[in-house]
Amino acid sequence: MQIIKNIKDMQALSRRLRAENKTIGFVPTMGALHEGHLSLIRHSQNINSITVVSIFINPIQFGPNEDLKQYPQDLEGDLNRLSSLNPVIVFTPVASEMYPESFSTSVTVGSLGGILCGASRPGHFNGVATVVAKLFNIVRPDNAYFGQKDFQQTVIIKKLIKDLNFDINVIICPTVRELDGLAMSSRNTYLNNEERRASAVLYRALKFGEELILSGGMVEAPSVKGQIGKLITAEPLAKIDYVEIVDPHSLAKADKIASPVAICIAVIIGKTRLIDNLLVESK
Ligand code: AMP
Repeated sequence: MQIIKNIKDMQALSRRLRAENKTIGFVPTMGALHEGHLSLIRHSQNINSITVVSIFINPIQFGPNEDLKQYPQDLEGDLNRLSSLNPVIVFTPVASEMYPESFSTSVTVGSLGGILCGASRPGHFNGVATVVAKLFNIVRPDNAYFGQKDFQQTVIIKKLIKDLNFDINVIICPTVRELDGLAMSSRNTYLNNEERRASAVLYRALKFGEELILSGGMVEAPSVKGQIGKLITAEPLAKIDYVEIVDPHSLAKADKIASPVAICIAVIIGKTRLIDNLLVESK
């Protein structure tokens, strides 16, 4: 495993690898690695000669009242976890090099960034798009891997690549879940035992919504959303941020459910905001 901290060193290595006709797979993360992250890395290692994993907590994607200061950080644990895999290149830049005082250029994602998670996290997706564009320019990957867990992010990254002509393939990997269905997330470490138990409601609600849609009895999105909402609010520790049924390409709200659709939810359990989604395709 090679660890690179400096942007210039990463660019030089990438230039050399490309000159040697090596294919570069790239997995951007904010660290606190779990099985979800490792699954993206394994997907990359299946088809690329080299996999670069970035570990960088991107300050500009956090709002002023969000958890930037508390965000879990464990580089040593992360490197241990990575050592169980085939070797990767770890890129861990520091914020002062990524965003020096003179930094002033950023990517704005437009209306896609103002809906769903963007409605309660203003500016979040501009911050994500800006760091991903920077990382793409530094790592210069052939293939980049993102998790379906962050569904809106995957749609926005695909659009970023198309709109700004990055010559990169995006591969979306399935959400890795705990035994009770909770999507793995670095933020799950915030949950106490009671909250952890309650957080299984997210996946239960998604599966319930899927069942309503696939049974064919319910085609009006507002009715399905209402039923999902009822199931979530029956859990006393859960507070709904949003429940939406959207077109999986445009993220436009569906009125009548014509397949496929994505059910996207954000739920606050205690003080922790969790998101999840399910793609539903009726036969
Ligand atoms: P993060 O470190 O949370 O920014 O996530 C880095 C990447 O890992 C993103 O592409 C996420 O969508 C992906 N990811 C996070 N959790 C999971 C999961 N449970 N299953 C699959 N991918 C995930």
